[in-house]
Amino acid sequence: MTQPSSATHEMLNQSPPFEDVDLFAMDRPLVEAVAANGGAAAETELSEFGKHWGSAEMAARGRLANENTPKLRIFDPRGNRRDEVEFHPAYHELMARSAHAGVHNSTWNAQGKPAGGAAEVVRAAKFYMAAGVETGHLCPITMTRASVAALAAQPDLLAKAMPVIGTRAYDPSFAPWPTKRGMTLGMGMTEKQGGTDVRSNMTRAERDGETYRITGHKWFMSAPMCDAFLVLAQADEGLTCFFMPRFTPDGSVNAIQFQRLKDKLGNRSNASSEVEFVGAYAQRVGDEGKGIRTIIQMVQLTRQDCAIASAGLMRSGLAHALHHARHRSVFQKHLADQPLMRSVLADMALHVEATIALVMRLCRAFDRAPHDQSEAAYMRLLTPAIKYWVCKSAPGFLYEAMECLGGNGYVEEGILARHFRESPVNAIWEGSGNVMCLDVLRALSREAEAAAAVLQALAGETRGLSGAAETVASIGKAFRRPDGERVARLAVEQLALLAAAAALNKVSSHQAELFAATRLAGTHAGMYGAVDLSSADVSGLLARALP
Ligand SMILES: Cc1cc2nc3c(=O)[nH]c(=O)nc-3n(C[C@H](O)[C@H](O)[C@H](O)COP(=O)(O)OP(=O)(O)OC[C@H]3O[C@@H](n4cnc5c(N)ncnc54)[C@H](O)[C@@H]3O)c2cc1C
Repeated sequence: MTQPSSATHEMLNQSPPFEDVDLFAMDRPLVEAVAANGGAAAETELSEFGKHWGSAEMAARGRLANENTPKLRIFDPRGNRRDEVEFHPAYHELMARSAHAGVHNSTWNAQGKPAGGAAEVVRAAKFYMAAGVETGHLCPITMTRASVAALAAQPDLLAKAMPVIGTRAYDPSFAPWPTKRGMTLGMGMTEKQGGTDVRSNMTRAERDGETYRITGHKWFMSAPMCDAFLVLAQADEGLTCFFMPRFTPDGSVNAIQFQRLKDKLGNRSNASSEVEFVGAYAQRVGDEGKGIRTIIQMVQLTRQDCAIASAGLMRSGLAHALHHARHRSVFQKHLADQPLMRSVLADMALHVEATIALVMRLCRAFDRAPHDQSEAAYMRLLTPAIKYWVCKSAPGFLYEAMECLGGNGYVEEGILARHFRESPVNAIWEGSGNVMCLDVLRALSREAEAAAAVLQALAGETRGLSGAAETVASIGKAFRRPDGERVARLAVEQLALLAAAAALNKVSSHQAELFAATRLAGTHAGMYGAVDLSSADVSGLLARALP
């Protein structure tokens, strides 16, 4: 395409921006995965969302929110504590748009119970599309949605909070949450001496009548302008979960003192604080000593969202790469017509197809788990395996997508540099890679029968696919080994691949066989494109990925 000339040269051969598109309708693997998992009725709503989030305006907001990073204002000019974080208006717009679409609450009904139907699948499709545009703001969105699961341990508090959590308004005012039109919640678990091992938490909780005073610190506490945080602290009976609002019931600012904001690799539109609690007011959530059991309900949901967000990042990387390759010519031929580039893009498209099928299958399990034991078992065993595989595959994938754009991929004006810097965090937080593998082992030993049934079901759903039977046998063998922990990564990766093949088989048996042939029947080579796919399959994959 010829573009306006500059004084010294003609502008040729640069790809146009990938904007003003319908992120839903143009993503056939997404449309089919949503339909295969019960969400077909929401197609119009998702297409509206896709058009809005695919607009040039939203892309600009994503860029602005990351270029103009949040600022911590600890004191006012007279030296009084403020402990406020200021965000660029673009960040607030992104928050408002996500809240307006219910991404922060649509999986719950007004009472804070699971909404049922395909609420998880539909909301996941929105989360996935939004993640491809701007991921940082999704941190408070995901924590707010997930907090309801932990608040369920304290029904009186949940009943008070739901009317505020349950609205689709975003209210950024710094005011007590019961007075607001909408609210967001964060969580504080990680301390300097340990994030995985939260039992090492030193923060103390002392009874103050019916409530508590919390003293201590958190080393990472993201989205500090949330209206309340679910915080772990040691009470008399042990580690306990608390609801810590920004304001005390008498309307004064709670003793939550931010020390500084983290200077992060990515996730820059989102603020992550270091914080001290100086006798901060809090209410107990669940029983004393049951803090991990209470907050793990929330963490299970944030882990699900990590996988969805990483899938969305990869999809965005693929779409930008393919769009660019269709417009950029090298040696008089579009990149998208060069056989080697086609192999790279098709192999990447296959990875994304399997990933989106898998995360939507997981979301269906979340939808059905309250009424279906086998779906609940799938959810418990597969959530850590899927978080492990999907999130850890994102950085390598996005690096490859970036390379498809050549030098333009590496510079900050484009979205791929931002996606690449964003991509490692989903694997690190909410349970890092090894921790996810240990979680799979834990689910296997605690619920051996249910886990065996999940594996058997996956074997049935993948029967006849290349390499599936061997993979099933290998997983079973690895998990039975007395030194299973040593080989856990191998077995968990195979489990995720098998589950991906099964999920894809429900969407398209042909795509599932391509995935199985290149990922189960042999070990996939280290780089994308190092596969032997037929020309017809390459064309088919690319057409499905982007019309
Ligand atoms: C941007 C960002 C924002 C964050 N926001 C929040 C927040 O809002 N609230 C919050 O509470 N936390 C937050 N965190 C903290 C995050 O959840 C922790 O960093 C994470 O849980 C890991 O804990 P850690 O850093 O203490 O590492 P460690 O627990 O020391 O783990 C280090 C490594 O050891 C591995 N490992 C741990 N145990 C084992 C084992 N038994 N065997 C083998 N390997 C093991 C882990 O997989 C990891 O790779 C945030 C982190 C980041 C980067």
